[in-house]
Amino acid sequence: MIDVLVIGGGNAALCAALMAREAGASVMLLEAAPKAWRGGNSQHTRNLRCMHDAPQDVLVDAYPEEEYWQDLLKVTGGLTNEKLARIAIRASSSCRDWMRSHGVHFQPPLSGALHVARTNAFFMGGGKALVNAYFRSAERLGVQVRYNAQVCDIELQDGRFVAAHLPAREVEGRQLPAERIQAKACVLAAGGFESNRQWLREAWGQNARGEWPSDNFLIRGTRFNTGILLKRLGELGADIIGDPTQAHMVAIDARAPLYDGGICTRIDCVSLGVVVNRDGERFYDEGEDFWPKRYAIWGRLVAGQPGQQAYSIIDQQAIGRFMPPVFPGTTANSLTELARKLGLPEAPFCQTIEAFNNACQVGTFDHTALDDCHTAGLTPAKTHWARPLVKPPFYAYPLKPGVTFTYLGLATDESAAVHFAGKPSPNLFVAGEMMAGNVLGKGYTAGIGMAIGTAFGRIAGVQAAASAGFVDTREVRHAAV
Ligand SMILES: Cc1cc2nc3c(=O)[nH]c(=O)nc-3n(C[C@H](O)[C@H](O)[C@H](O)COP(=O)(O)OP(=O)(O)OC[C@H]3O[C@@H](n4cnc5c(N)ncnc54)[C@H](O)[C@@H]3O)c2cc1C
Repeated sequence: MIDVLVIGGGNAALCAALMAREAGASVMLLEAAPKAWRGGNSQHTRNLRCMHDAPQDVLVDAYPEEEYWQDLLKVTGGLTNEKLARIAIRASSSCRDWMRSHGVHFQPPLSGALHVARTNAFFMGGGKALVNAYFRSAERLGVQVRYNAQVCDIELQDGRFVAAHLPAREVEGRQLPAERIQAKACVLAAGGFESNRQWLREAWGQNARGEWPSDNFLIRGTRFNTGILLKRLGELGADIIGDPTQAHMVAIDARAPLYDGGICTRIDCVSLGVVVNRDGERFYDEGEDFWPKRYAIWGRLVAGQPGQQAYSIIDQQAIGRFMPPVFPGTTANSLTELARKLGLPEAPFCQTIEAFNNACQVGTFDHTALDDCHTAGLTPAKTHWARPLVKPPFYAYPLKPGVTFTYLGLATDESAAVHFAGKPSPNLFVAGEMMAGNVLGKGYTAGIGMAIGTAFGRIAGVQAAASAGFVDTREVRHAAV
């Protein structure tokens, strides 16, 4: 019988598999995706938020534990488990050497990116290179990796893991039989449920306009995070934590693919212009704060608009001040022409822009500061970077909500054990998005997804190996931090 079965093929699963194998356990990893699409959402990532008390290799200055914790507290509005959050924060200061030992490389800090170079370590080659390095290392160490292996059920006995079930399935033209895979311990690291359209419908429901808002959501990452096991564990009595509508959600280019558009589908010019809905009306302060602090609220804002559709509108003055999107904008030399090209009602759209232009107060435009260019007497106000949209050509980018990952998860503790009616399972553990909701009740701070997955993936791997009889004293100490 296998010692440790790991379910999932992203960062958390790979960290767990590597740690369990290093402790001496035999390990099998089941990845739902085919090899070409392995790596879950982790393949789309760029960085890891890291605590440090002084400059450290790729990190400048200091980002102490207390500041990290306060940042997290602020974005979650207190909806976080301090004990687990601090475990992830502390572990982020010391995991990079271990990551390097498995082939992960970090980028030297980029000039001009000092703000993020202080808090976040960037993966050389991005998340794809990271998961490829981990898979290579896992295979070299003898972890059995199986692709096209979407686990459909978990067998338990009194809160103990017994076996995982794979359905009969066709893989590359071959018919494979159903399988029952037993193991002494198991780590669940199968992501959130963001790619499960039916579950998103259940969570978001129908709005007063009779729409199912979630039908218009795009998924920024993998199509394989369907939450089958999260749902099944809930049915089997595991303790669930979080609100199913809470997720990291960004307003992305409406022309992005339904899945796996990744980071290049972001539209980063919102704070430089105005955003209107399909009725041609503004609905939120586009200049509330710096874009990196606000981009993740716009997915929910657009989700609340008719048809879950919006348009970011800028003029020539904004060009060159933001990362150009992958798809070109719709351009026009007049606002009426722009409205016509977008299919927006011309009169309301032009009135909205005119009212905005008239409300802009004269100030000194500075996109690098919270400047004094704001509107007066306009609802909603634009509090910074408000400049009349008067210089053609005008540009428009269509926006839709893009879900990064959902926060509903399995309740856990510092040993990463799955809980049943408050009692930790002796041999079933959880890591990554499947438990991130313990730390992220809502909100987000860039790079914490990988910090949580790395910390709890490593802990889960050590604990699973220990429950299968392989005690790694060095790393058990780490887990107990
Ligand atoms: C576009 C994008 C950019 C991001 N950028 C960052 C960033 O820069 N920094 C950061 O910290 N976070 C970032 N995130 C969030 C980050 O991806 C997640 O927090 C993190 O990757 C979660 O890791 P995980 O291993 O839990 O999940 P995933 O990496 O999603 O892995 C889940 C795995 O489980 C598999 N799986 C699912 N169901 C089953 C099943 N039933 N049986 C078997 N396998 C199954 C999937 O195929 C997948 O391999 C980003 C996310 C996206 C989408």
